[in-house]
Amino acid sequence: MAEIADRVQEVMDRIAHAAQRSGRAPDAIRLVAATKAVSPDRIREAAGAGVRAIGENYVQEAMAKRQSLADLALEWHLIGHLQTNKAKQARATFDLFETVDRLEIGRALARRGGPGAGPAQALIQVFLGGGEQRSGVHPEALPELLDALAAVQELELRGLMGVPPVVENSSIAETRRYFARLRELFEAGRKGRESARWDTLSMGMSADYEAAIEAGATSVRVGTAIFGPRPV
Ligand SMILES: *Cc1c(COP(=O)(O)O)cnc(C)c1O
Repeated sequence: MAEIADRVQEVMDRIAHAAQRSGRAPDAIRLVAATKAVSPDRIREAAGAGVRAIGENYVQEAMAKRQSLADLALEWHLIGHLQTNKAKQARATFDLFETVDRLEIGRALARRGGPGAGPAQALIQVFLGGGEQRSGVHPEALPELLDALAAVQELELRGLMGVPPVVENSSIAETRRYFARLRELFEAGRKGRESARWDTLSMGMSADYEAAIEAGATSVRVGTAIFGPRPV
């Protein structure tokens, strides 16, 4: 039982050290616990150990978990692909949408807020390469999508999210190049929108979150390093 708490502590320590190496305060980095296939009880343990943000891949799964954990002050992030027909449920469930990669999704989220909801908080997911990955906007198409989404009322763009391609025997040096590329796109995205709250760069998972922080991540999505391997 103490295992999850110990792992959360270790991840937080590593985040703090990586933040220091990149000249930032530990609390400048947000740990998002990736909890697909993780039970509410185990999420509760992670929360008890200091986790404040949860990343879920599926709307239905997240709705159920959020209900059973309603007594906890957690922030819920959608980190999986979203279909427009789930936009309404998704708006009711998540506080940040990390995977907006086309205009229709941004518009659907904006429309589905309900009274008093405030603008939907969103990151644009960028495609960084890799074979059959189907999510994310290509970097060449990013500026155009950014402009289009920035014009959508009730949608607040907060930054970028990306997942480097998983290739066999890929080295951390290669992964670092993808992180550096995404960081460049993030900085370019700020240009001309200095008044916007463009403050979130979500990159890095269990295998590489320290490298991501060194490359400028403000948010890391960590599953396995906290909860152990997922059932296949
Ligand atoms: C599952 C998942 C993670 C976490 O991956 P781990 O390797 O278990 O840390 C991060 N981001 C996304 C989008 C995921 O689907």
